[in-house]
Amino acid sequence: MESFPTKCRLPAEALDRLICPMCRVSVRENEGWMVGACGHRFPIVNGVPHMAEEFAKREVSDVG
Ligand SMILES: [Zn+2]
Repeated sequence: MESFPTKCRLPAEALDRLICPMCRVSVRENEGWMVGACGHRFPIVNGVPHMAEEFAKREVSDVG
């Protein structure tokens, strides 16, 4: 069965260089996702962030 690890295994200096491929803004690790200030987030699979547009999810903003 495939698990969905929540911890990224990349070193901090590599994480620092990760950006959203669409918006070119930096992303941060958060609960198994790399989350950008733009609202896109990318899954971390087997400890490796999948930083590609096809994996991106847009944060759903709560209205009200
Ligand atoms: Zn973005």
